[in-house]
Amino acid sequence: MNSTLRRTWAEIDLDALKHNYTQLRKRVGSDVKFLGVVKADAYGHGSVQVSRVLQQLGADYLAVSSLDEAMELRANGIAMPVMILGHTPREEVSKLIENDITQTVTCMAKAVEYSEEAEKVGKNLRIHIKVDTGMSRLGYLCDDDFFGTGVDGIVDACRMPGLEAEGIFTHFAMSDEEDEGSAEYTRHQLMLFKDVIDAVEAKLGRRFDIRHCANTGAVANYPDAWMDMVRPGLLLYGYGDYAEKLGLKPVMTMKTTVSTIKIYPAGTRISYGGIYETSHTTRVGVLPYGYADGFLRCLSNKVKLMTSEGPAQQVGRICMDMSMIDITDKMTVEVGSEIEIFGPGNSINQVAKLADTIPYELTCAVSKRVPRIYFEDGVAVEKELMLRG
Ligand SMILES: *Cc1c(COP(=O)(O)O)cnc(C)c1O
Repeated sequence: MNSTLRRTWAEIDLDALKHNYTQLRKRVGSDVKFLGVVKADAYGHGSVQVSRVLQQLGADYLAVSSLDEAMELRANGIAMPVMILGHTPREEVSKLIENDITQTVTCMAKAVEYSEEAEKVGKNLRIHIKVDTGMSRLGYLCDDDFFGTGVDGIVDACRMPGLEAEGIFTHFAMSDEEDEGSAEYTRHQLMLFKDVIDAVEAKLGRRFDIRHCANTGAVANYPDAWMDMVRPGLLLYGYGDYAEKLGLKPVMTMKTTVSTIKIYPAGTRISYGGIYETSHTTRVGVLPYGYADGFLRCLSNKVKLMTSEGPAQQVGRICMDMSMIDITDKMTVEVGSEIEIFGPGNSINQVAKLADTIPYELTCAVSKRVPRIYFEDGVAVEKELMLRG
């Protein structure tokens, strides 16, 4: 791994993660439980390392998208409650129960499958009911004409043998958008969610232990949506406009180095397709950082990367393994110099906007050949490279 360490790497600042968790904890108060979303390898940051920190700081729950992701945590010493937000095939229900993993139940058909399988095992499967209040993805449909059937379906699931309904949740589609239309949509989702809970709890004659719906947008904007537990992902990692407003810190810094420097005369076309042509003598740095590392090709000719002398324009098409920057007026930038792709010195929010996407996609795109270096108390404590062999 040391051979790739000075190529391109991601620095993961566990102190920033601790800071973000602590700030968010303060924000929601100690009465509200805290679920950290660590799906997709903790948005590219390393789910085991992130979960260890959250477990140590006293978070209440973790969420992942699949059984394999949950098993990765269990295999690496994460003993705290873990919830799967997506589907698990019925063949795997015994594994869920053996490993004390909580499963989302999204509809009648799944509830029946899970109940039958749990009965075969002879032990209860802990579940959270998912309500579709307007995301139109997974969950019991409960809007308008579907209210009655939705509520009855949820009540049925909660009464099925082998299922232990610990919680109920929904997911917002627009809580992170500030226009009035989005706010109205979110308030409607929240109201509907509360109505569903009231109706279900009245019929069941008991209340759910954990009612939750607050993703990043709702943690930032809708305190009345915090309920029994908040469920942020992005905020925890310190990205997006709300993270900035709440004083949170970016956890990942992507870095690369200058591998080669070339000087070209005016009129030289650079990289595939020749979409960039030098207009004067140009000093170009070649970076060992391309789209196979997670550098979105649509950023070609658009983005600036940070050098010790300020931002340098990326020039020419971004290739699979390499890309070029213009360092004509940055004479102290040399072969071996560090370049910040995104991080505290080059906001990922800006880079994401240039790519017409969101910060989530940029950290999730950091590929397995990019080593992650974990920092705690300012010291590198762990290096991980996910290549085989
Ligand atoms: C991914 C996800 C979250 C976290 O979303 P953020 O916008 O990162 O806070 C919360 N809940 C569910 C159901 C999710 O799928």
